[in-house]
Amino acid sequence: MSDIILNTNVQTFAPDLMDEARLFAEYLNGADIFVNADISDSLRAEVKVGNSVRSFQSSTPQGDALEIKRLTKRFLKLALYDSLASYCGVGLPWGSLTGIRPTKLAYDYFSSGGSADSIAEYLTNAFRVSEKKANTIQKIINVQSKYVHDIKNGVNLYVHVPFCDGRCYYCSFPSADVNKNSAYLAPYVTKLAEEIREVVKLIKEQGKRILSIYVGGGTPSVLDAKMIAELLTAIDSNGVEFTFEAGRPDSITAEKLSVLKEYGVTRVCVNPQTLNNETLARIGRKHTAEMFYNVYESAKSYGFDLNTDIIAGLDGESVDEFKRTIDQIASLRPENVTVHTLSRKRGSVIAENDLKIFCADIAQMTDYAYEIFSSDYNPYYLYRQKYMVGNLENIGFSLPCKECVNNITVMEEMASVYACGAGSISKLVTNGAIHRHASVKDVKLYLNEFDTRLNSKLAFLCEK
Ligand code: SF4
Repeated sequence: MSDIILNTNVQTFAPDLMDEARLFAEYLNGADIFVNADISDSLRAEVKVGNSVRSFQSSTPQGDALEIKRLTKRFLKLALYDSLASYCGVGLPWGSLTGIRPTKLAYDYFSSGGSADSIAEYLTNAFRVSEKKANTIQKIINVQSKYVHDIKNGVNLYVHVPFCDGRCYYCSFPSADVNKNSAYLAPYVTKLAEEIREVVKLIKEQGKRILSIYVGGGTPSVLDAKMIAELLTAIDSNGVEFTFEAGRPDSITAEKLSVLKEYGVTRVCVNPQTLNNETLARIGRKHTAEMFYNVYESAKSYGFDLNTDIIAGLDGESVDEFKRTIDQIASLRPENVTVHTLSRKRGSVIAENDLKIFCADIAQMTDYAYEIFSSDYNPYYLYRQKYMVGNLENIGFSLPCKECVNNITVMEEMASVYACGAGSISKLVTNGAIHRHASVKDVKLYLNEFDTRLNSKLAFLCEK
């Protein structure tokens, strides 16, 4: 893959244009790109890719300065996308979109008077999103519409446990190795429980209600059963959706599952990522497919709703191996399945290595997952990340009426998140604006400066 050379006279938009050009990196073969635009009144652009030149124009954008900038960016990106797609002879599944949430565009379209039935058509016309992906967004919006009306005065409570037993090769989350930090576990749990109590007290004082609770990480199930009990005592779930991420099957025991049940957990994530033992060993997971099956059945016997995460595009895994995992997971019928596309995130082990990953293979994998799960599951949330292989997506499927409220309301930024723990990020959603507060990541600092930092977090949560 050669470097991308892009020249433009509209420097403000150069980073956005570069993001667009990167989507075509594997097809460009060193062709230079020039984008010359006049955006002073009506919008005009001339785009040259290699020897091919195309001209574009659009009427004068209307609105405040921010809106004008947004529409100008959209025009330039689409002009470049159309030129690159024509030069390279390919169309991309998500068209000119480079952002994380295609659903946000659908919601924006709604709020500007667009009709629910024409979302797919809008995405295809305005952004060149493929018909298939646009229809998926339309379905997701339909499923989510059930939840939009039931979030008034609601907030999500998030609890972060930043420890893992080793590191999966694709992961870039800042989690501490539980084996090197065992001395911090007990004090961390005690302080985290204290923080949860203070935050829950504040939620009540503010007259708000908890929509969902999510204990994530890291791997919260690396804590022993006693610590999990101490942590969960601080949470009165009151029957709301309560997820506990027991991501690694090797970290789960019957004793821990029994504690989760006792304290009101309703949903447990047991994530195999793949059911191919060779791949599991290659990506740094310490469990086998058999261990996953045992834990899955055990968790099922407690009556939890179960979520399983799968990743398409893992190092060295073939399309057929991926399909086998999908078939096996489908035969278990978990309430939720999330199919991720591998992302070469900075800081992960795989980002440093030259993996043999072919985008066409990944598209076959995600297409197969969609085909299998869309027969009796609903796609219900979707997001994209930077550095995703094949520029695809992560997509959550749910059995009807088993959608995870947390995934919808957090991902769509419909409700605030009151987050507790080192490395957690609280988000206040107020009148369309989002305000964030990041807690310190370092566990030692979290413990040593607990009171000061807690006060500053509570002050933030009271601000808006
Ligand atoms: S268990 Fe999850 S958080 Fe921990 S290293 Fe693996 S992917 Fe990352």
